[in-house]
Amino acid sequence: MLQQRTLKTLTRAVGVGLHSGQRVELTLRPAQPDTGIVFRRIDLPEPVDIPISAEAVTDTRMASTISCGQAKVHTVEHLMSACAGLGIDNLYIDITAEEVPILDGSSASFVFLLQSAGITLQNAPKKWIRVTRPVQISQGEGTDAKWARLDPYHGFKLRFEIDFAHPAVDSTGQCVEFDLGTGNYSRDIARARTFGFTKDVEMMRANGLALGGGLDNAIVMDDYKVLNADGLRYDDEFVKHKILDAMGDLYLLGKPLLAAYSAFRSGHALNNLLLRELLRQPDAWEVVTFENDRQAPVGFAQPARAW
Ligand SMILES: [Zn+2]
Repeated sequence: MLQQRTLKTLTRAVGVGLHSGQRVELTLRPAQPDTGIVFRRIDLPEPVDIPISAEAVTDTRMASTISCGQAKVHTVEHLMSACAGLGIDNLYIDITAEEVPILDGSSASFVFLLQSAGITLQNAPKKWIRVTRPVQISQGEGTDAKWARLDPYHGFKLRFEIDFAHPAVDSTGQCVEFDLGTGNYSRDIARARTFGFTKDVEMMRANGLALGGGLDNAIVMDDYKVLNADGLRYDDEFVKHKILDAMGDLYLLGKPLLAAYSAFRSGHALNNLLLRELLRQPDAWEVVTFENDRQAPVGFAQPARAW
């Protein structure tokens, strides 16, 4: 049987929010089978639980924000991506402010944190949402066109294509495919950092955003080039970060997907609309478990590997 996973023990991190610039403490704690992933705002007068779900996503400008009533948590996607990459099903995330810390702008620090705490198998079957027929969402036309779709696939893979009119981005790979069952998330995806342009950063700061952002936690570009002294971590770091983001956005569904995701210029908003479109079509998916490891997709039945 393929089993659910949680942490062996609790672990903590401290950092600042990318947009708020606010100091924040995170405590990641083990959770019982079928709990799912639950954020808990422990700084409020009464702690408020915010379980992840496609419907809990209430704002997708710049980052994915989830809410329950008035309580919010911004920028959940990189931490969710790490959970997706390591196959964590059940977790409490206690947080002392409105935004997840940005750390180094990738999910590598979260992967390190989760792996240091240790991942344990639980005595309950792991549940997937298997896509049974294609679901697509599109926006805009011509040069503004963007789309994202899910197709049936026995496993989970993503294909992302970007199209930026910027010399530093255009000289790198614009399209990446990653298969969770056969690839290595920690090595090949997790280190890709978020990116931004100096002119946008100035505008965002004027609007109270990106206050915690800088060369320590993002790739920053002027009109021509990357400004970070050490350059890029991967030749195709930009599009790899889009894969990282998409994995996090899609994990907000609450269960891992068995599907092939493909996207052209998608982002947090379109990724969430795709999940909502999937849920709107109950005949396009089903919940499955694997009683027999041999029926599971390639690479999914090996608890030792860091997928
Ligand atoms: Zn991101």
